[in-house]
Amino acid sequence: MSNSGGVSARRGEGLYRGPDGGVTYATREIHVRDEEGVAAAVHRALQEQTRFRTAGSGGSKSDITSQRDCLLHLGQPTDTIEVHGDLVTAPANMTSGRLQSLLAPHGLAIPTVGEWQNATLAGAMVTGTHGGSARYGLMSTSLREMRLVNGLGDLVTVDSGHPDFQHSGVSLGLMGVITRVTFECIERFSLKLETDVVPFAEYVRDPVGHESRSEFHASVWAPEAGRVVRFAADRVAGPPHPISREQRFGWRTAVATFLSRRLGLHAAVSSAVFRRTVVGDVSDILSPLDLSPRTVRFRVVANKILPRAVEFAVDAARASEALSRFQALFRAHPGRLLNPIGLRLTAGDEFTLSPTLGRHTLWIDVFYYGGEPFVTELATLAEELGARCHWGKTLPLAPDVIQRQYPGWDAFRRARERFDPNEVFANSFTDRLGLTGYGSSGTAGSAR
Ligand SMILES: Cc1cc2nc3c(=O)[nH]c(=O)nc-3n(C[C@H](O)[C@H](O)[C@H](O)COP(=O)(O)OP(=O)(O)OC[C@H]3O[C@@H](n4cnc5c(N)ncnc54)[C@H](O)[C@@H]3O)c2cc1C
Repeated sequence: MSNSGGVSARRGEGLYRGPDGGVTYATREIHVRDEEGVAAAVHRALQEQTRFRTAGSGGSKSDITSQRDCLLHLGQPTDTIEVHGDLVTAPANMTSGRLQSLLAPHGLAIPTVGEWQNATLAGAMVTGTHGGSARYGLMSTSLREMRLVNGLGDLVTVDSGHPDFQHSGVSLGLMGVITRVTFECIERFSLKLETDVVPFAEYVRDPVGHESRSEFHASVWAPEAGRVVRFAADRVAGPPHPISREQRFGWRTAVATFLSRRLGLHAAVSSAVFRRTVVGDVSDILSPLDLSPRTVRFRVVANKILPRAVEFAVDAARASEALSRFQALFRAHPGRLLNPIGLRLTAGDEFTLSPTLGRHTLWIDVFYYGGEPFVTELATLAEELGARCHWGKTLPLAPDVIQRQYPGWDAFRRARERFDPNEVFANSFTDRLGLTGYGSSGTAGSAR
């Protein structure tokens, strides 16, 4: 292990870009303690012509960070947050669950978080992590300011007045190493969560109506049973009861959908089995998953071998059509689905690379086994529906299709070049997408 400028480098897997421009595999993991350490790591990468990605909790299933990447670890985050009015500033590698608990004594909460408590704030933000609410957008829509170390090793503050703010909220980690984030919070509250089951035929007539009938909403659709389990949560006065909520993809869902799929016992997916009411703290209701990052990383690797997870972001105006067409696809290819389908609605926003850019969005979360012609037909359907993809899950669409879905793609590339002209934070995933690896000439593969 070597050490300089607060940076320790350890042998491990990593991508190394040699001085001749060729890519070879080298062996590095970088551990830093503070922003100075991050800046030193960037300077060293510039000198050695290497590149690295910043490590989050490892929850993304796409190659947004791949096993071949050299990873920069920010170290254990401090438990210190700063609260001013409804604004909270926290270390970017704090988990969303930890932030929610630290906000409790202040009577505050973040309205949009993913279901997994152990995602880091930065990792969740740069991949466009969302909850389920017609009122709130992605987690990044609560962002008011971030501090990062850019690709020149400079410390930069990007607030909502900064000209590149709209490129930085969902950045795939390409603007720099985010070290601190400031979010606008809402007053803390308890939620009453009610679960029931409706026929798919009823749901598909008005998916948006179903998903927006309460402040927070999420569903799972069991296609074989032709039913949808709905999780609707609204604010309620009074303290939460210490009862944990039913998970959307919990054991009951697994058993019920197994019985329906394998034995034709569709009554297993019914209100008689699922109906319940739970009152809990906002953070327990919205983020019920407390899996350890180690378990998740194991699942992520397994996910790359067998079942895949893709989450399509469909214009809410086409939600009904989309679900009907997905239903026809699943019927044509029985046995391709691992889990029931997750459904959630999210408000639109203005971040350049946000899958919910400019439109209310129905998210359709599909866990599937690969194999042709299913995968090609899935991608073709998504393309025809104009569906964007969650950046942290499998991306079955071709790079040129993805590029066309984002009108500000080139503006984002130019902003990325300003923040990181030497592509320190690039990897094979961002090269493949055409966000990096083209150099200043705009020619693919000419960087460095
Ligand atoms: C169990 C589970 C449940 C989930 N539930 C949801 C959900 O409800 N809604 C949803 O939308 N998604 C969900 N996801 C997806 C998940 O929220 C995202 O993939 C998110 O990125 C995970 O955060 P992470 O800390 O693990 O980031 P990682 O996967 O480790 O990293 C993601 C990206 O962020 C970059 N990055 C990390 N830290 C920094 C930093 N400090 N500066 C710059 N770049 C950085 C990394 O380099 C990488 O490119 C879930 C995932 C799991 C495993």
